Amino acid sequence: MSTSTLVPLNPNTAKFISQPKKMLINGKWVDSLTGERMVTINPATKEIITSVPKGGPEDIDLAVESARQAFDEGPWSNFKPAERAKLLLRLADLLDKNAEELSHLETMDNGRTLKFTAGLANVGAEHFRYFAGWATKITGETIPVSVPGNIFNYTRREPIGVCGAIGPWNGPIMTAIMKLAAPLAVGNTVVLKPASETPLSTLRLGELIQEAGFPDGVVNIVTGPGSTLGKRLTEHPDVDKIAFTGSTEVGKQIMRSGADTIKKVTLELGGKSAHIIFSDADYEVALQNAANAIFMNTGQICFAGSRLFVEKKIYDKFVADLADYSKNYTIGNGFDKYSMLGPVISEKQKTTVLNYIDVGEQEGAELIVGGDATEDGLSNGYFVKPTVMGNVTNDMRIAQEEIFGPVVAAIPFESIDEVIKMANNTPYGLGGGICTTDIRKAHKVAHALRTGNVWINTYNLTSPTSPFGGYKQSGIGRENGAAAIDMYTEIKNIWVNLD
Ligand code: NAD
Repeated sequence: MSTSTLVPLNPNTAKFISQPKKMLINGKWVDSLTGERMVTINPATKEIITSVPKGGPEDIDLAVESARQAFDEGPWSNFKPAERAKLLLRLADLLDKNAEELSHLETMDNGRTLKFTAGLANVGAEHFRYFAGWATKITGETIPVSVPGNIFNYTRREPIGVCGAIGPWNGPIMTAIMKLAAPLAVGNTVVLKPASETPLSTLRLGELIQEAGFPDGVVNIVTGPGSTLGKRLTEHPDVDKIAFTGSTEVGKQIMRSGADTIKKVTLELGGKSAHIIFSDADYEVALQNAANAIFMNTGQICFAGSRLFVEKKIYDKFVADLADYSKNYTIGNGFDKYSMLGPVISEKQKTTVLNYIDVGEQEGAELIVGGDATEDGLSNGYFVKPTVMGNVTNDMRIAQEEIFGPVVAAIPFESIDEVIKMANNTPYGLGGGICTTDIRKAHKVAHALRTGNVWINTYNLTSPTSPFGGYKQSGIGRENGAAAIDMYTEIKNIWVNLD
């Protein structure tokens, strides 16, 4: 692909990355206490973009102290709900204003194409606006109790306190926004740790948070390895809650390290979502849905439709057509205006994805199309082609384990009961898709899937207004919608003797 088709870098993005990057603690941009740094790499070019502080446990202690003070004593606890709403609305406007700069930053740091990142900040702005609306609507209940005496019983919803938030690399800015909007709306303070691979858009968000006028210490942003800095956050006795998005394996570690202090947790974890195509589906819609469900963001989406169940009578044709369809995706640098799919995040992730393709073949699956992308300069980055594996059975590793790359495992089925059983036969329970024109079948299967989200004749839709989360080992709790308010508030029950 010719470099002349590359979109020029937004000047504000260029300026941001040219300045030394620091962490945000108690309203100040600081280096790590040890002075150590770590680099962040553009996965489309393998070039170093810049470096950020490599924070450690001692930096977490300072960030938590600052968040604790802002919550316990600082001005934040005295902010009226309408004042919190105003700040969130101001931040939303700043996201809209700086949308292109943030989009370029995200494409550079994470690899997603500009086509994909272009509207992300605006979507994020809508998250802040939605939760700004909630700030003035957090109410308790008056409860009729049948106990002796003249008793008035009521509840208050109060913020939980200091929330530690930890995110993955596959959707850095949206994860950060989802980890801030709901807790701030209801009056918590936050210590936020972005993934080591993709810290930049979160650090820029920190600048916008300051510009919006949030008091010092309400949002702290720390950068550094999960195994040391992240772990300390999850163990810290002054942290009341952990909101984590990432792998199921690390989610389990977080539950363990939060156990000693009985941390409240919201966990948004991995997935192996079933996408079920019935023979009565609108064929073209089903084909597009099947492809977009797995290949969007190069397969690095927690709810990617990575297990494709296709009714046996159309299986051979559908899988062959999907393989043809997948050749239409132009892969390349996300800044190329023709790129539809960017790279995977890192050398390590590319190796993992290619290993899974090998494992699938060793277990008897057929690599129909895809694999390593080496041609036309693509070896400059971590590219993998959209990959379709046929002849898969549901017990194979490529059908059971999360690959987190553009690899779909296509499995035939004959009956509704059989496909429901296979779809649910996984430790995960994040998403599921159904393509059919039979409305009764669609709802019957949707109700039977043990997953937190189901899409019928569509896929990939989420909204700040709608709860999102997983069953089984895909997580605990929900983000977005009214459910998120429950996740960030405690209910206090108050008894008053009126006599
Ligand atoms: P990961 O679990 O390796 O890392 C996630 C974050 O946890 C990173 O910031 C990392 O530094 C930190 N971390 C690592 N070890 C830690 C520890 N011991 N204590 C505290 N923090 C620690 O995940 P990843 O590879 O960055 O992201 C991919 C995973 O995220 C996939 O499994 C994907 O399905 C999942 N994910 C889930 C959702 C969802 O909403 N369910 C959304 C996006 C991604």
